Amino acid sequence: MRLLIVEDNERLAGLIAEGLGRRGFICDMAPDLATAEDSLAGAEFDAIILDLGLPDGDGLAWLKHQRALRQLVPALMLTARGGLEDRIAGLDAGADDYLVKPVDIEELAARIRALLRRPGPRAVSVLESGPLRFDPVTREARLDDRVIDLSRREADLLELLMRRLGSVVVRDAIENALYSFNEPVTPNAVEAIVSRLRRKLEEAGLAGQLHTVRGVGYMLRSG
Ligand code: CA
Repeated sequence: MRLLIVEDNERLAGLIAEGLGRRGFICDMAPDLATAEDSLAGAEFDAIILDLGLPDGDGLAWLKHQRALRQLVPALMLTARGGLEDRIAGLDAGADDYLVKPVDIEELAARIRALLRRPGPRAVSVLESGPLRFDPVTREARLDDRVIDLSRREADLLELLMRRLGSVVVRDAIENALYSFNEPVTPNAVEAIVSRLRRKLEEAGLAGQLHTVRGVGYMLRSG
């Protein structure tokens, strides 16, 4: 699950990103609304964590505008304003949930998982390819009901390939999906994750479905 944290308090954004990162989320940070728009244009996110007071505008007004323009993934507002009127205004503007600062990471993670379980513009449903199933919320992969033990990045890769089943996913897109903008990526990191995932799928009994398209990327054939 990839999240965009729109928060101008660098320290708070860092703490949230680190806390959620340890709980299996991939987090990108945007310190203002302009950066948030660039990030949303450049990558797919599963949810947005949105501060209200940002240097280049009001998070709530921005959210209302974005929602009018297009279908947007679920947004959770972070606010120092805990008054009833502010909360109602937030939910009216299209926020799916809100949390009053100071933020408890455990609660934030639970709220996000709940948001992603809700039906919405991108309802999270279990991905399937023949006997292979992947649950984007629990991050569990199963083959004929047997759990395949995957690392966080292997699970992220499998999810990406299953979402684009039968199509080639270019190497850069995989790197962008598996690593956030500020994370160092070693050469051949993607290749190494692909080989490990391929081996685990083979060991589970699913051989020959994760294809390398030389010089381009990778593809999962439907089972
Ligand atoms: Ca702020």
